[in-house]
Order: sequence, then C-alpha cells, then structure tokens
Amino acid sequence: MKLARGNSFLVVGLGLSGQAAARLLKRLGCSVWVTEQGRTLAIRQAAKKLKRAGIHVEWGGHSLKRLNQIDVVVVSPGVNLASPFLKRIKARRIPIIGEMELAARLCSGTIVAISGSNGKSTVTSWVTQMLKNSNRHAMAVGNIGRPLSASVSSIRRDTRVVLEVSSFQLETIQTFHPKVACLLNISKNHLDRHGSFAAYLAAKRQLLLAQRQGDVAVLNADDPVLRRLRTSVKGKRLEFSILRRVRGAYLKGDALMLHLSGRPIRIARTGDLRLTGSHNVANALAAMVVARVSGASVAGIRGALKSFKGLSHRLERVGRANGVTFINDSKSTTVEATLVALEACRNQAVLIAGGRDKGANFSKLKKLAKRKLRAAVVFGEHGHRVKAALDSAIPVTRAKTVHQAVLCARSLATAGDQVLFSPMCTSFDMFTDFEERGEVFKAAVRRTGKSQRP
Ligand code: ADP
Repeated sequence: MKLARGNSFLVVGLGLSGQAAARLLKRLGCSVWVTEQGRTLAIRQAAKKLKRAGIHVEWGGHSLKRLNQIDVVVVSPGVNLASPFLKRIKARRIPIIGEMELAARLCSGTIVAISGSNGKSTVTSWVTQMLKNSNRHAMAVGNIGRPLSASVSSIRRDTRVVLEVSSFQLETIQTFHPKVACLLNISKNHLDRHGSFAAYLAAKRQLLLAQRQGDVAVLNADDPVLRRLRTSVKGKRLEFSILRRVRGAYLKGDALMLHLSGRPIRIARTGDLRLTGSHNVANALAAMVVARVSGASVAGIRGALKSFKGLSHRLERVGRANGVTFINDSKSTTVEATLVALEACRNQAVLIAGGRDKGANFSKLKKLAKRKLRAAVVFGEHGHRVKAALDSAIPVTRAKTVHQAVLCARSLATAGDQVLFSPMCTSFDMFTDFEERGEVFKAAVRRTGKSQRP
C-alpha cells in the first residue's frame, strides 16, 4: 500500500499520537477524519483544536457512515486492534497502519529503535545524550512523549532518530525499518492487551524482523527470553551483559567495558554513574552499544555516562531532611518496578505505595520488605490491599493523602533511611497520570519544611 496525497485517511484515537498523525496528514494535503470513542474534557479540547486546523473530528463513539470514502486507516498505539470497530474496518479490507508506521514512511533520518518491557525511556534519552555529546544531530521521540509524527518535519537526513517503541506500535508496522534495534528485556507485561505471552513476544520480535542485512540488533544476553529471539536477528547481533563477556558491552568487576572490534575499552566505572541500581548498569551498557553503533564517539559516550541524571519520576532524589533522603519513583505502577527500586536502595527504607490496583500480587514484595523496609505507608483506592499483603511482615500505616503519607513516612524514618515513593499501582484513582502524582509527592516533600535539595 502506498501513501498518496489525494488519499482520504481516518485516524482512530485522539491521544497525542493520533493528534500528531492527523496534523501531519493534513499538512501533506490529505483529507483527514478522526474518530474517538472517549468523551473526556481532554478529548473535547483536542477535538476543538483539530477542527480549527480543518480536520473532521467525531468523538464519543465511532460511526461507520464515512468508511466507504476512506482509503487508509491510521491507528494510535492506544487503540486495541481487536476492538469491534477495527474488526469492521478489517472486514471491509481497508488498509490499516499504525501512527509510527505512517511517520516512519515520511522520516528521512536513521531510525534507532529501543524497545523492551522496562527501561525504554531511560535508554532512549541516554543514547540521545551520548549522540549529542558526540556532536551528532539526534532526537528522542516516540513513546517517550513526542510522537514520531510530530517530529518528522524537524528530522534531517543526518538525524539519528532515537525512537522509543512500544509493543503496541510493533503490531501495525509494514515497511518500518530500524537501522539499529535494541531489545532491553522481556517480562510479562501488557498481557491484558496482547492476550498471551506468546503474542507479546511475537510483537517484540517484529522489531528484529523489520531489519535487513547490514543492520544491527542489540540484545540483552542476560535475559533468557531474549536469547530465544537470537535466531530472528537478520543483520549483526551485538549484546550487553552484566554477567558475562559478550561482543558489545559488559561489566568486568566494576568497569563498564565496550567491545565491538579490536580490544575492549573501559568506558567508566559503576561508581561514575549517577543512577543507582543494577538495572541502570544494564541500561548503561545497552545505551553504550546502541550509541556507538549509531555513530557516537567513545568520548561522547563516556561524558554522557557520567553526566546523565536520569529521568524524572524514576528513582529521582528529590530532597533530604534530617539525614533522610526522599526518592520519587512515581513511574512504578507494578510490583516488579518497586522490587527493582528496593534492590537499588542502599539503606533501610520507608515505602509509600498505593493507588489503583491492576490485579497485582503485592505479597511478592514481602520477602524483600522484611530485609529492606522499616515500615510502609499506604494511600489511595487500593492502599488497603497493599496493607493486607505486607501487614504480617512490617508495620503498615494508612494515609488519606500523599502529603499525609510523606509526613507519616518522615516520622517513621531514622537518619540514613530513604523514603521511597514507589506506588506499585496506577495513579488514575487520584491523578491524571504518574507525572502529576510524582509532582504532588515532590511538592509534599518541599512542604514538609526542612527539606533541602540533595
Ligand atoms: P519504560 O520506558 O520501559 O517504562 P523507564 O526507563 O521509564 O522504562 O523506567 C521505568 C521503571 O522501570 C524504572 O523506574 C525502573 O523501576 C524500571 N526499570 C528501568 N530499567 C529497567 C531494567 N533494565 N530492568 C528492569 N527494570 C527496569
């Protein structure tokens, strides 16, 4: 299927990606309709803006009446391909592509794709910083917050487009071609949407199948599931590992080694990194390989390894008072993410957790809680479930608000401890998203008075 200017497009979904796709198509002179099932304030506001740009928008449901005028349907990553509306479109044999596929067809730069279950945003920004440090024109786009469709016009031929790719976007690719593709890890995530682990893995595998000979795939050698995907690599395979020496990047003692050709080079020591936790050592090793094969210099990589402070809301140090450090890990919406955060805690911690539960098994935290947690404070709609799971292991207190939780955690912590805000639940019971939740935590830490910057 070819994209042509005179085509009529239907964009399904009015999230950031859908909006960007619709605007991109309009700029290209196409007829654009957008359809959106939801009716929230944000959706109505977005619809108003698009209408002003000459785009037809319907919200609050999908009508079928215009379908016979549509040449191509573009789906946002948030839209489930198994939904009844998409099934109808498939039945009528109208071509369906994803927002990322659409934008990639119009992108003149080199695509460096980062995917996996965890660490995508961190590695995407780290690689971008390494490339910029090496005087390369690079930008971080995709799932990280700026859809590829919104960036196409500022991409040049020499741009390294460091693209954070979710498994949903991989379900709708056709000609998408990443010169460099990295899979960081695979865990049992998003099974609600993909239906099974096999389907989730198949979506991730698409990233490798989209490559050609001469491209580079970077895989985590420590991940047993990813090892099963080795045979799907079409070009050169490089790896990263914290356990063994591999062609790519690895940990030797406390040294981060890069070994592509010739002799291995020591790039930095773990103590040079500003990010904590062994997961971030793995992220650093992945970023080193991806950046190097994408054109970063050794000096550029070394500089960014040492200067990268990490992203907000992921193990972010936000304050210190009376010897207690406050850490904002609002991005954690799963038990697994909080386990990783606790592993990274050097000292005893008081955990603040809660929000809307997605059906998690909080008791998985119990063993580590006994060792690492002095106490926990729970909040939000399903805070009581976290309490029920941890009660027999450590003291657990309930708080009504995040501010109250901070005050309580602070009184329970002793000098040298960390107060870790790592909710294990979604934020939608009280906040718009995890970012707003993290900002509320930071404000609460500031309000507790004596906190100083770390
Ligand atoms: P993503 O974009 O894939 O959601 P982020 O870089 O935003 O990942 O990190 C989100 C959270 O995932 C972190 O706060 C941390 O708990 C966890 N995480 C990050 N990197 C890894 C990794 N390599 N392995 C396991 N967990 C990780």
